[in-house]
Amino acid sequence: MPIIIENLTHTYMPGSVTQFTALYDINLTVEDGEFFGIIGHTGSGKSTFTQHLNALLQPTTGRVLVGGQDINADKISRRNVKWQVGLVFQYPEHQLFENTVLADVCFGPMNQGLSREQAEEEAKKALAHVGVKEENFTKSPFELSGGQKKRVAIAGVLAMNPKILILDEPTAGLDPQGRDDILDQIAALHKMRGITIILDSHSMEDIAKYVERLIVMKHGAQVFDNTP
Ligand code: ADP
Ligand code: MG
Repeated sequence: MPIIIENLTHTYMPGSVTQFTALYDINLTVEDGEFFGIIGHTGSGKSTFTQHLNALLQPTTGRVLVGGQDINADKISRRNVKWQVGLVFQYPEHQLFENTVLADVCFGPMNQGLSREQAEEEAKKALAHVGVKEENFTKSPFELSGGQKKRVAIAGVLAMNPKILILDEPTAGLDPQGRDDILDQIAALHKMRGITIILDSHSMEDIAKYVERLIVMKHGAQVFDNTP
């Protein structure tokens, strides 16, 4: 399912003295199955943008369409899009909360109505896809290294089988080896599952060799859209 972004502008705290426009008139279509990158300095609007793709933030003006539907049309659309578009936050700590890795990754699919057994099956598949070993399933997600935490957070979203996976700075805080490992795994995931993947980074060298297409963001505006 394609994502169409039309004239998207986002102003934080409109009408207040601290009003700040973080996105200016973004127009973009991401095709079904694309591996898409967003590059930009810190503060350029990447996180603000990604949070619009599953209705975590609402546009000040403009629209976001997923599979032809305006995701902010009403409450139900806003809720439904969360099942189709999975968003992995920059800081995995914001996403992890259960006592064990397996319970954490089961949370999403159980919320979708799967039984404990079915949820575990989806969770184990997702954990295998991102390279989390079985010996870690019973550990607390908080005892794991930064790279492993990131993987568990990705698995937690993946276990819900989203059609579109968004990763906000998946390589932040990782050493070069950890960064390459996780990007290789994301690329493999794109190949195996054929889902749309959108990821952002403040580092060009990070993602240029992985993505099929990228945009550059600068001060909330999109300044480039092409192949790497
Ligand atoms: P990036 O992810 O590229 O670092 P962000 O989308 O986080 O950029 O931030 C873009 C701009 O919006 C920054 O100037 C930031 O300070 C501002 N901003 C982000 N979140 C908020 C918020 N909740 N309230 C006010 N301003 C914000
Ligand atoms: Mg950010």
